[in-house]
Amino acid sequence: MKQTSFTPFTIILLTLLILSLLVSLGLVLYRYRSTTVLLEYARQQISAQALTIRTLEQDLLQAKENINALMGALTEEQHRMFVFDEQIKAITGVVGTLDKLSKTDPELLKKYSKVYFLNENYAPATLAALDAAYLYPEDTPEYIHSQALPFLRDLLQSAHGNGVELRIISAYRSFDEQISIKSGYKFIYGAGTANQFSADQGYSEHQLGTTIDFTTPETGTLSSGFKKTPAYTWLLDHAHEYGFVLSYPEKNTYYTFEPWHWRFVGVALAIELHAKNIHFYDMDQRDIDAYLISIFDPNKN
Ligand SMILES: [Zn+2]
Repeated sequence: MKQTSFTPFTIILLTLLILSLLVSLGLVLYRYRSTTVLLEYARQQISAQALTIRTLEQDLLQAKENINALMGALTEEQHRMFVFDEQIKAITGVVGTLDKLSKTDPELLKKYSKVYFLNENYAPATLAALDAAYLYPEDTPEYIHSQALPFLRDLLQSAHGNGVELRIISAYRSFDEQISIKSGYKFIYGAGTANQFSADQGYSEHQLGTTIDFTTPETGTLSSGFKKTPAYTWLLDHAHEYGFVLSYPEKNTYYTFEPWHWRFVGVALAIELHAKNIHFYDMDQRDIDAYLISIFDPNKN
């Protein structure tokens, strides 16, 4: 029987071979182990980073939501401020209108009649002297409601510019002056003060201080002849532009025709009356009253 025999050299060689294989295997295992550990470490790091990113994303989202909420609150607050501001403006407007109205004499646009006329104690708030150059006669001072004066001045200057000379015979008349005028004219009075003054419907309008009796240098008096003058025609065409209207026009049904007697009612109302070709005394008092607030407003045209 033949037996395989190993020489000592072979045994040593084999042993070395086996040892070297074992060492190599050990090294491979060691490397593998190390790599696994490193990979695990890296995986943990990545996982930690991912967590941090998620947290940051959530924080960012929360911050965005907070900003949106703040913007919403800001918009809401701005809207509230706007509404509040509008309310303040509206209230200020109403207060301004009421204040203006409370300072405007309601008598200035009242219709006077045989039963409704001004009280003897009534006087305009302020009076201003008329320019002597426009008076007839020049040495008799006349007064007008100071707020109506600029309108009358414009009217007189405009007429003059159109070659029309207007003069003023009478403007403001106090209650007492009216009594003396009446006495001078020897009017026949009825019983009692009210009846005495009902004889002149135009009287109250002169007591307002906003009414003018016009004449021309040629005419010189209050007469129906004034209606034939170019001055009267000019007034019919232009007086409304300055807020003046003819109180008692020809063929009116409430008082005798007075071509010389013109009353200031404000530009807006005068233009409205002229445009509709109706007269002040034909208009409803409630409709007239709507113009009181703007009576002294300048002509916007
Ligand atoms: Zn008059």
